[in-house]
Amino acid sequence: MKCLVVAEHDGATVRAGSLAALGFAADVAAQTGGSTTWLILGHELNDVSQHAARYAAVLAGDHPLLAAPTADRYAAVIDDQTRRGEFDLVVAAASTFAKDVVGRAGGLLGGAMASDVVAHRWENDRLVMQRPMYAGAVLATVVLSGSPQIVTVRPTAYAAPQPRTEPAEIATVGIDAETLPQHIEWLELETRPTHRPDVSEAQIVVSGGRAIRDRDDFERLIGGLADALGGATGSSRALVDAGITPNEFQVGQTGKIVAPELYCAVGISGAVQHLAGMKNSKMIVAINQDADAPIFEVADYGLVGDVYQVVPELIQRLKDEPDRHHPPPES
Ligand SMILES: Cc1cc2nc3c(=O)[nH]c(=O)nc-3n(C[C@H](O)[C@H](O)[C@H](O)COP(=O)(O)OP(=O)(O)OC[C@H]3O[C@@H](n4cnc5c(N)ncnc54)[C@H](O)[C@@H]3O)c2cc1C
Repeated sequence: MKCLVVAEHDGATVRAGSLAALGFAADVAAQTGGSTTWLILGHELNDVSQHAARYAAVLAGDHPLLAAPTADRYAAVIDDQTRRGEFDLVVAAASTFAKDVVGRAGGLLGGAMASDVVAHRWENDRLVMQRPMYAGAVLATVVLSGSPQIVTVRPTAYAAPQPRTEPAEIATVGIDAETLPQHIEWLELETRPTHRPDVSEAQIVVSGGRAIRDRDDFERLIGGLADALGGATGSSRALVDAGITPNEFQVGQTGKIVAPELYCAVGISGAVQHLAGMKNSKMIVAINQDADAPIFEVADYGLVGDVYQVVPELIQRLKDEPDRHHPPPES
């Protein structure tokens, strides 16, 4: 299949989730004698195009009107480039960006879409995919009919391909400003500067739940433990709803799906909607004062105790004995 992979980027490098999406596309292309091509949209794309070309050929849609990721414009360009390039498969990482942009592009293309794919195989000339449903309670096996197929993949389910020995070709695509839709006006982007990695890309995640009483405690206990381990901070929805943590920290069915090497659930009960976002983590450590909390059913290690007592002790131990802890390098 001829695969077009829509990249998310920060202006300099392609995001880890998009590299995972390329990993999926590269496997499909290898099994079908097809190819992979990036579609990178934005403005001043020189650096990110060069990074992307280490993995696959690049189509760069570079225009001031694409500087901000407004869904109507981005979807129109994806639609246009998919038709021009006669791509069979449009792929992206399953993310909030993809929910907004790639779903619209699928509508414009009139193709069939599967989101949040976690496994696939090529069988009888068909791409057979698996995707979780009902908060991960069941795994559906789906085949799409019609063309093109539009697929988003769960980044934690796929690995990035190896970089090429020689960079691939970078081509700039023409953007017709006259025909670009302009229904959405980009007003501003609010960001919180942080020294910690993004929760969806980190190898170590420390998440706090309702046991944490306020923002200062969150920063001291959850932030402190994350820093001692070299990880990111996340939270349950209870803390987001209470205004203690921002939306982007939420792990779970309606938040981020993560599968780090180490996930520490601190004062989180383990509701099914939270488990849907983290139960595939390689190692789960739970701290909870209730020995019967459901989180202990998925935990590899459990500590029964008051987070206000045990977390400061844990942070101190990690500081006192740094040699006993070797955080893996962040990717
Ligand atoms: C449609 C839908 C979507 C949802 N999506 C999500 C989602 O994406 N993510 C998500 O997280 N939730 C989601 N929820 C909410 C979910 O059902 C739970 O309400 C939420 O996960 C509970 O968060 P919590 O574990 O922090 O709080 P609680 O369930 O209240 O648990 C708090 C835990 O902390 C322990 N505790 C309290 N004090 C201490 C202490 N001092 N020391 C140690 N332990 C202590 C308690 O024993 C308890 O186990 C969703 C719900 C719905 C209906």
